[in-house]
Amino acid sequence: MTMSLPKETDIAILGAGLAGLSIASWLDELVPAGADMPRLHLLEAREEDTHDRTWCFWDQSAHPFRDAISHRWQNWQVSHAGKQVVYNDPDCPYAMLPADAMRRSAYSRIAIRNEFSLVRGVKVEAITPQSESLQLTTSQGQLDAKVVIDTRPPPLEALAESQGVWQVFHGVEVHQPHHGLGLSKAGLMDFQAGHAGIHFVYLLPLDEHHLLVEWTCFEADRHSEICKILLAPELPWMLANWLDEHLGKDWAVQRSETGCLPMMPITPPHINSRYLSAGIRGGWMRPATGYMFASCQRGAEDVAQQLLKAHAQKRWHLTPPRIRPSALNWMDKVFLQAMRQHPEAAPGWFLQLFANTTAAQQRRFLGDQPSAGDLLAIMQALPPGPFVRAALPRFSISRGH
Ligand SMILES: Cc1cc2nc3c(=O)[nH]c(=O)nc-3n(C[C@H](O)[C@H](O)[C@H](O)COP(=O)(O)OP(=O)(O)OC[C@H]3O[C@@H](n4cnc5c(N)ncnc54)[C@H](O)[C@@H]3O)c2cc1C
Repeated sequence: MTMSLPKETDIAILGAGLAGLSIASWLDELVPAGADMPRLHLLEAREEDTHDRTWCFWDQSAHPFRDAISHRWQNWQVSHAGKQVVYNDPDCPYAMLPADAMRRSAYSRIAIRNEFSLVRGVKVEAITPQSESLQLTTSQGQLDAKVVIDTRPPPLEALAESQGVWQVFHGVEVHQPHHGLGLSKAGLMDFQAGHAGIHFVYLLPLDEHHLLVEWTCFEADRHSEICKILLAPELPWMLANWLDEHLGKDWAVQRSETGCLPMMPITPPHINSRYLSAGIRGGWMRPATGYMFASCQRGAEDVAQQLLKAHAQKRWHLTPPRIRPSALNWMDKVFLQAMRQHPEAAPGWFLQLFANTTAAQQRRFLGDQPSAGDLLAIMQALPPGPFVRAALPRFSISRGH
């Protein structure tokens, strides 16, 4: 599976993270064994993997990683100021896919395809358009590819930082003998009072003795003191206090994960029609939530279909997949703007939003596939004042152009 860099290939995928491995897995899924497959090279900067994340999502549509899902919760809860909203949704539980299980599944698909190679420890440094290809300059030499799918993190200039916030979190997998919490309920947001800005605890009971607990905040400035505390390797004091208060003194941290996700519009970098930005870089992550797994599967399937068509027709041109309805992008912009203007009110809005919609409406909305009726229900569930005010400047700006 792992080899050195050749001189040329059909498809180069830059980065073997969620998006890169999903596109490779969808190609494998769509092409029967023995049928014609384009040559694919995944170029990954990391030498080794760490179990550094879990992907959670509402498992609403088929994807290549279903067998690797480790946990499912049919109840999910949002809490604020002593009030709770609990959803029960046996039709579509909230699911967890650990990164190590997902990678094992993808690597085994890559290993059985002679046309696929994963090259590790190779850093892509530059991309230069040629007449019939794109030339990659990497830490291991040059490679010509007919098309390039770029999943490296987006450059800062691609992010509309003034239109959103950063989702910054520190999570721990904790061992606590007989913690006593129900195993069928995922705590999505338990808002924490007494902290400047928006802070909440995310709590997933894994079995009788293990939990995943994350402290998350939405912050406009990713260099703030709170972001430094949450992104440091040490256990943040507020999470330690929460664990002491809710679990007693017997807990022990077994693994940790941190993240700083751009909840903001992204303009995907573009070179020409042989080049496609994908994953977070391609704007596949939902700006208002930081969720990407489900939309990434839709994007990856679309890109895989385009690659197979391009290979069959020998016309190597790609177009960005339509990840979500544009109405949703507009609503997210307004929501993020309102959240920046009134962070103190946001926990109440989330509670109201969940209290006044059904589980099915919420999971379709959060999974980027709402119906028109769902969007209406979501809009009616929120207080109009702050959202109209947040939307108004957008109208006057667009009228001015
Ligand atoms: C801790 C954590 C938990 C998350 N949990 C969830 C969740 O529960 N649900 C959800 O929907 N989303 C979640 N997300 C958000 C999102 O789904 C993930 O960040 C996801 O991994 C993004 O996928 P990606 O392919 O865009 O980027 P990545 O998975 O980060 O992949 C990019 C890859 O590019 C490689 N790379 C970087 N530079 C170079 C270079 N120059 N040359 C070659 N390779 C390079 C990197 O090493 C990396 O492997 C989480 C994110 C984090 C950080």
